[in-house]
Amino acid sequence: MSFIEERARALVERYSMKEVRIPVLERTQLYLRSTGETTDIVEKQMYTFTDRDEGETIVALRPEGTPGVVRAYIEAGSDRTDPEQRLFYSGPMFRRERPQKGRYRQFFQFGVEVFGRPDAACDAELLIMTDELCRGLKVPFTMEINSVGDPKCRPAFREALVQWGRAHWDQLCDDCHNRIDRNPLRLLDCKIDAKLAESAPNSLDYLCDECRTHFATAKELLTAANVQFVVNPRMVRGLDYYTRTAFEVMAGGLGAQSTVVAGGRYDGLVEAMGGAAVAGIGFAIGVDRMALALQAAGLASAAAPDAAIIAIGPAATRHAMVVARNLRAANLNVEMFSPERKMKTLLARASKIGARFAVIIGDDELARGVVQLRDLRQSAQREISEAEAARVIVEARKE
Ligand code: ATP
Ligand code: MG
Repeated sequence: MSFIEERARALVERYSMKEVRIPVLERTQLYLRSTGETTDIVEKQMYTFTDRDEGETIVALRPEGTPGVVRAYIEAGSDRTDPEQRLFYSGPMFRRERPQKGRYRQFFQFGVEVFGRPDAACDAELLIMTDELCRGLKVPFTMEINSVGDPKCRPAFREALVQWGRAHWDQLCDDCHNRIDRNPLRLLDCKIDAKLAESAPNSLDYLCDECRTHFATAKELLTAANVQFVVNPRMVRGLDYYTRTAFEVMAGGLGAQSTVVAGGRYDGLVEAMGGAAVAGIGFAIGVDRMALALQAAGLASAAAPDAAIIAIGPAATRHAMVVARNLRAANLNVEMFSPERKMKTLLARASKIGARFAVIIGDDELARGVVQLRDLRQSAQREISEAEAARVIVEARKE
């Protein structure tokens, strides 16, 4: 998990973004207004309760980051004085879910929000950034993009979905029956029967000229930057405030919970929350799911130690402490093993945790100022000086 967060942090710095720390606890009202009362999150997933203050304020554990970031942005007056902002956040989110693989009640997101940039170049830049992150992590992934239109053209798409939903009433689940009038876009987000949506109206057929041009430009810029993507005209975000570009990154090996990054444009949100009419766009990385994807792809061994230290006897153990410290000072990942276990057990453990080398020190080695350096990949062992061992281990790390 922290490996992914560190990568994301290094990435956002190269994209000139500043950190914003948002509260874990907010007024529930914030999410009703921004996430939207007809979304899954607000309808059934929010942990919300009454505080015992005088006003009996109703508060919620944050289910997502965007509303808190927008609130902070407006409260700081940025929407009026300095609207163009590039921000990121990181931390736990809470949703009342049915826990399963890749779906937890407390999970971690790393998110990015850019304000004051209505142009398609900004959409492209964030998608390029997402692509760079996933490539850097070496996780196999596919990126899907779509445009969900804007307040001008979406009503016609929405209406078409309502008509389609009514025509397929008998095939829809109970949740979808509720969605038809409240939030018909979410008919496409149904987890129960994803196949049915294939016959549903396609958002791209309803785009107005401005939205069409915006989407075409974004795609053109992505292609110019060598980013591979698939257009999925039936992908929508479950949240109300998205406009135009929506996107998701799917990673293999995760089954139903395969979406590891999700985001899109939300040009109406700042104004809807009482700020100026400022464009916005962002995405969130599902850090837990990304970690599962790395594991599934066999890429999770990044933290395997360079060396396991095995000392035999009290005097060698004292010296081994210094050897371990010196290796760590050379930036190596070192694990000091228990001096109270048998050599055979310790060597088996060194292999099991994926250590590259074992550094073995007994009284004899101590007396002669050497160590036994065992290469666990080649099962070869040799006697060398401590300094020489450090050099060999550092070299092996660069391979
Ligand atoms: P899903 O359709 O899987 O429920 P969502 O639309 O609710 O996802 P978003 O609100 O867009 O998800 O959140 C962005 C990302 O955060 C998701 O793509 C996913 O990687 C991650 N995420 C969302 N909910 C959870 C959860 N309960 N546990 C773990 N990760 C989650
Ligand atoms: Mg969800």
